[in-house]
Amino acid sequence: MLNSVPEPAKIKNVNLLDLDRNGLAAFFVELGEKPFRATQLLKWIYQEGVEDFDLMTNFSKSLRTYLKEHCFIATPEIVVEQVASDGVHKWVLQTHCGNRIETVFIPEENRGTLCVSSQVGCALACTFCSTAQQGFNRNLATSEIIGQVYTAQKRLGADKKITNVVMMGMGEPLLNFDNVVAAMNLMMEDFAFGLSKRRVTISTSGVVPAMYRLTEVCDVSLAVSLHAVTDELRDVLVPINKKYPLKELMEACRENAKLAPRRTVTFEYVMLKGINDSVQDAQGLIALLKTVPSKLNLIPFNPFPNSIYACSSKNTIHQFKTLLNDAGIVTTVRKTRGEDIDAACGQLVGQVQDKSRRHLKLKTLDAEHVA
Ligand code: SAH
Repeated sequence: MLNSVPEPAKIKNVNLLDLDRNGLAAFFVELGEKPFRATQLLKWIYQEGVEDFDLMTNFSKSLRTYLKEHCFIATPEIVVEQVASDGVHKWVLQTHCGNRIETVFIPEENRGTLCVSSQVGCALACTFCSTAQQGFNRNLATSEIIGQVYTAQKRLGADKKITNVVMMGMGEPLLNFDNVVAAMNLMMEDFAFGLSKRRVTISTSGVVPAMYRLTEVCDVSLAVSLHAVTDELRDVLVPINKKYPLKELMEACRENAKLAPRRTVTFEYVMLKGINDSVQDAQGLIALLKTVPSKLNLIPFNPFPNSIYACSSKNTIHQFKTLLNDAGIVTTVRKTRGEDIDAACGQLVGQVQDKSRRHLKLKTLDAEHVA
C-alpha cells in the first residue's frame, strides 16, 4: 500500500483520486467491504467518468451514503487553456492552496504525449531551467498528479487520446516518490488509464537512492537528465550532481536497465552553446553511454527571461548527433513544440509561492552581477 489510509472513524475528507488500486482496496477493507470494490470504483471514475456516488449502482445504498459523506473526487482547476499553432495544448491549473502548475499535451501523428508536473516549482537549482528560478513550494498530491491526466483527457475529448505520459513537467518526480509512484500506478492500471509501462516515463535529474527504490517498486521507462559528461560541468548545470556524481548515477542506470532484456535508459542532453556541445563532449558522451544500454535525446535549449545560456546552432546539433549515431548510439533531436505559448521544455513556470526563497536569492545575484 502506497498511501496511508486513515482509520474509518477519523475519515472526514478523502479525495479518492489520492489512492491507487492497492490504496483503495485497503480503504474499502477498513470499511468492512471487499477489496474488489477498488476495481469497481476505478472503473466508475476513470472509465465511465462518473463522479456522482449515487450513480455507482453496484454499490450498496449504505456504501454510497458513506462515500457521499466522507469522500470526494477533485482535481486541480483549469485557469488557463492555450493551444499553440502546432496543436500543443497547455493548461495552467490552480491547486487548492493557490499555487499554479502547468501540464502540456503534445500531439504527434500516431500518439499524444502528456507532460505532467510532480511538484509546485522545483527544489533543485539546474541553472538552465526556468522552473528552477521559481523556487519550490510543495509536493503535489497523487490526486493532483493523476488529476492532470484526468482533466487533460476530459478536455481533449475522445478523438485526442493521451497515449503516453512523461513526468517531465515542473518538479523533480523522484523527490515526491510515493505520490508519483501511486499516480504512475494509476496511469498503468487496467481499470484506470491502462497505459503500458513503455508509455509511462519518469525523468530524473539523478536522485540516485530514489532511482534504486524505483527500480524495485515500479517498472516504468526511465529518462535521465544528463547534460554534461564531467562532474566539473555537471556540478554547475545540475547541482544535485555534487551529491550523486556521474559514477554513482551511471551505476544506478545500469541497475535499472537490468529490469528487462533489451531495456534502455533514455538520456536527455540539453544543447548549450559553447558549454557542452564540443566534439570532445560528444566523445565523452559516447564513452559514458557505451557503459549502459541507452538512447540519447538531444534537447535544443529553450531560452527564457534572464537565462545566461544560448542554444547551440543547428549545425552543431546536427554534427553532435551524427557523431553519436555513427558511434552506434541511437540519437534523436527533440523537436521544440509549443514555443508560442511557452510550453516547451524548461519553460513551465506556473505560479509558485516560493518557500525556498530562491527567487529572492537569484534577484540578489542578478543585482550583484550588474553592480
Ligand atoms: N526534474 C526532472 C524532470 C523535469 S524534465 C528532470 O530533471 O529530469 C524537464 C526536462 O527538460 C529535463 O531534461 C530538463 O533538463 C530539460 N530542460 C530544463 N530546462 C530546459 C531548457 N531551458 N531548455 C531545454 N530543456 C530544458
